[in-house]
Amino acid sequence: MNPFRYQHATDVSDAVAIAGRLADAQFIAGGTSQVDLLKEGVQRPAVLVDIFRIGLSEITGLQGGGLSIGANVRNSVASDHLLIRERYTAIAEALHAGASQQIRNMASMAGNLLQRTRCPYLRDPAQRCNKRDPGTGCAAVEGFNRMHAIFGQTDEGAQSPRTCIAVHPSDMAVAMAAHEAVLVIYSRLGERRIAFEDLHRLPEHDPPRDTNLACDDLIVAIELPAFRGKSHYLKVRDRASYAYALVSCATAVEMDGDRIASARIALGSVAHKPWRLFAAEAMLQGERPSEELFRRAAEVGLEGARTYSMNGYKPDMARVLVARGLSEMTGLTPLQGTAGTAFAASVGGIAGVIGGS
Ligand SMILES: Cc1cc2nc3c(=O)[nH]c(=O)nc-3n(C[C@H](O)[C@H](O)[C@H](O)COP(=O)(O)OP(=O)(O)OC[C@H]3O[C@@H](n4cnc5c(N)ncnc54)[C@H](O)[C@@H]3O)c2cc1C
Ligand code: SF4
Repeated sequence: MNPFRYQHATDVSDAVAIAGRLADAQFIAGGTSQVDLLKEGVQRPAVLVDIFRIGLSEITGLQGGGLSIGANVRNSVASDHLLIRERYTAIAEALHAGASQQIRNMASMAGNLLQRTRCPYLRDPAQRCNKRDPGTGCAAVEGFNRMHAIFGQTDEGAQSPRTCIAVHPSDMAVAMAAHEAVLVIYSRLGERRIAFEDLHRLPEHDPPRDTNLACDDLIVAIELPAFRGKSHYLKVRDRASYAYALVSCATAVEMDGDRIASARIALGSVAHKPWRLFAAEAMLQGERPSEELFRRAAEVGLEGARTYSMNGYKPDMARVLVARGLSEMTGLTPLQGTAGTAFAASVGGIAGVIGGS
């Protein structure tokens, strides 16, 4: 592990001032992601700014019916919060389906969104990885790429300094994308809001950068706009608990009578960021739910997917999840578990069943 200075921030302004003043500063909240990366030598900050005791741990209602969740609210608190379970069910389900109860008790909301990819080569200094050591190449392209991207990746070959085919691992981020969350950011320049879609980025020509945040950008809250429909998260993984998604899907649907007023669909573990299916969403608006419609939407959503030697299963798995999520949200098929729990989110294993569409 590289040596670093450790500093407690006293409040939001203090945290941002330290991060802005000192080069190579990074924040730490619950530390469940950050500490591993420090030990593995992937993160090498000069200063670690501890923000876990500066507040930001409230969940409050917003005018117009939305909800504001403080950046330091623990994942376990958010997953069990009544309003989140009732109004933003996909978020509660995604949280329940992630990590373990012990980790969720420590993990913060902002930290969850900013966790780094679980690509195994990022954490192995003996392997080529443009994200960890820019310019060294990408071992995943010709290596173990079972978990890797099918959309939005940069692939100019294993030797290229630009290649990265990693996926973002957060479950909750996928549900936040479907709910079109807004991030409240505080920096030396003051406060601003950014759309969730603009938080994470594709690797493009700069694989080390995961997000569009600057180093002194502190997330202070996540705002959820009012939502009067139903939302749902589905996750396929190797084990029924304590495993990252192979593919996941969040759907948020509002109905107008027997027609779909709006549908938002986001896939997880298919790209460097939660992947919205905008074209599929557009074709659903104003339509009456039917299995045929949802199968077509899934086809449209998965157009253009590009697979590798070991992840050819992903497009089919994603199509099944999209159609099943829409079908469950519009009442064509019943939920396979209690809404707001990991049982509703889990597909396969002991907690759920494959198929449903
Ligand atoms: C064994 C294991 C299994 C896991 N399984 C899953 C899983 O199945 N699904 C899943 O989604 N996740 C999973 N996780 C990841 C877990 O959810 C994250 O580690 C956790 O949410 C990170 O939160 P934290 O508060 O500990 O973040 P930290 O580790 O403290 O920080 C993570 C990153 O966020 C930044 N950061 C934190 N707060 C802020 C802020 N307010 N503003 C700006 N930057 C900030 C830090 O600088 C750092 O870069 C797993 C983790 C482990 C260790
Ligand atoms: S996919 Fe990205 S994170 Fe993984 S080895 Fe390639 S460059 Fe590194």
